[in-house]
Amino acid sequence: MSRKVTDKAVDSRPTRHHKTIIIGSGFAGLGLAIRLSQQGRDDYLVLERGSDVGGTWRDNTYPGAACDVPSHLYSYSFALNPNWSRSFSRQGEIQQYIQAVADKYQVRDKHLFDCDVTSARWNDTAAHWEIESSKGSFTADTVVSAIGALCEPALPDIKGINDFQGEIFHSARWNHDADLAGKRVAIIGTGASAIQIVPAIADKVASLDVYQRTAPWLLPRLDRPYTTPEKLAFKYLPGVQRLSRAAIYAARETQVVGLAKFPALMQAFELIARAKLRYEVPDPELRAKVTPDFRIGCKRMLISNNYYPALGRDHVDVITDGIAEVRANSIVAKDGTEREIDALVVATGFHVTDSPTYDTIAGRDGRTLSEVFDEIGQQGYKGSAVANFPNMFFLLGPNVGLGHTSMVFMIESQINYIADALATIDKQNLRTVEVRRDVQDDFNKDLQQKLSKSVWINGGCASWYLDKHGNNTTLWPDFTFEFRRLTKTFDVAAYATTPVSDTSRTETKVGASQ
Ligand code: NAP
Repeated sequence: MSRKVTDKAVDSRPTRHHKTIIIGSGFAGLGLAIRLSQQGRDDYLVLERGSDVGGTWRDNTYPGAACDVPSHLYSYSFALNPNWSRSFSRQGEIQQYIQAVADKYQVRDKHLFDCDVTSARWNDTAAHWEIESSKGSFTADTVVSAIGALCEPALPDIKGINDFQGEIFHSARWNHDADLAGKRVAIIGTGASAIQIVPAIADKVASLDVYQRTAPWLLPRLDRPYTTPEKLAFKYLPGVQRLSRAAIYAARETQVVGLAKFPALMQAFELIARAKLRYEVPDPELRAKVTPDFRIGCKRMLISNNYYPALGRDHVDVITDGIAEVRANSIVAKDGTEREIDALVVATGFHVTDSPTYDTIAGRDGRTLSEVFDEIGQQGYKGSAVANFPNMFFLLGPNVGLGHTSMVFMIESQINYIADALATIDKQNLRTVEVRRDVQDDFNKDLQQKLSKSVWINGGCASWYLDKHGNNTTLWPDFTFEFRRLTKTFDVAAYATTPVSDTSRTETKVGASQ
């Protein structure tokens, strides 16, 4: 997909203006919409390209899709759900939860669904954003990008793949009309999505070829259904659910010490993972193939109890020779072996540090996010602002990602920050706010210094956490409560501002507080 900032599309519909436009309505955009409604900041609109809320949980409907973070933590703090059916929720239940929250807080009428934003361009003279979309033109004083990092499927550049004649689809665009029963199926990739798909389809297919480039580390999935007494306790004794949430949070947070600060400590997890491998993969040949060669945690640690057993089945093959080409009805491995297939599942992840959406957003000097990131790397300030993009905020921007705990915690921290930013703009009567480049540079120097000690840099793997310069521009390298502290209030001193009455930019000279 190629989308560029284009001249204003010819559109007879009048341009509509809103104080704030939010792009995207997954956990992040929806959460901010709810906060703005609660604060009475009603002049906002959410533009969502899908036909419902939910984001990644609406889009990832592949068989076996489920969350790796326990349900009681993977939910909004202001909308706890006592009715989770099990400790780790599946996609359908999470999507129903998000839909129910949108209904409860009555924000659906603040959404424009099936509205694909094709460009957002800052107009420095008018000091507003100009947005083009499949549903016409908009202007806004402030824009919040809540697009998320895992929304643009990455398709592998493999010779012949476009000429494949059977069913072919990406894991995040599962074709439910394609019946895989009795078919010869191949899957490319062994990441978080693939390890859920493989056991979910292994029973019904005639054969399953798993094309593995890098073996992932797997830990046990401590998933179980909640009992009726537990659910009653969650419902009638809210403290119990809060306590469960706090315990999950604390347990997960301890992983930061190994992941970000002392990677050698990750060996403790490696011991568990190796024991699991020995127990669940008795065949030494297969075990050798699926044993990772990097420090656990360097790539996302995966959890599954049924992936290895599925790989051990007679009609499932793990192929590690690499793919030379895809033909009309087969895949040829680099050792020359050709294997016939009827369907191909592409579970190769997402454009994270090179999202095509970056081509569609142009800032103060007309340069797009892609062009700016090309020069300096995918850098921002507190994951929430990027220099050169005035009056624009980001939910799930650079270095906000996590591999070990709930993204909803990070999202709620950013909602605090951005909601306070919007309130500050009103209170101080500001025309523009733009994070200062020197503040952003200092922030990133500090981030990269912290990251240099992490397992993501030192663990001996390549991963989507790293950009093309080898920098980790996706993950938060510290405790999440530290991020919560940094984003508690909007630090206007870190921003260059102009007042409403003045059209020239003023640099605030006060040192930025973090
Ligand atoms: P991913 O983690 O990026 O995995 C992509 C897989 O495809 C990797 O095994 C990768 O191999 C392989 N691959 C990529 N390009 C390839 C190529 N050209 N040829 C051969 N193999 C190729 O993607 P994902 O599994 O969709 O997961 C993405 C993220 O989504 C996760 O990290 C997680 O944050 C989230 N997620 C979460 C859950 C959950 O909570 N349970 C489930 C699904 C996804 P290499 O390792 O060698 O690059």
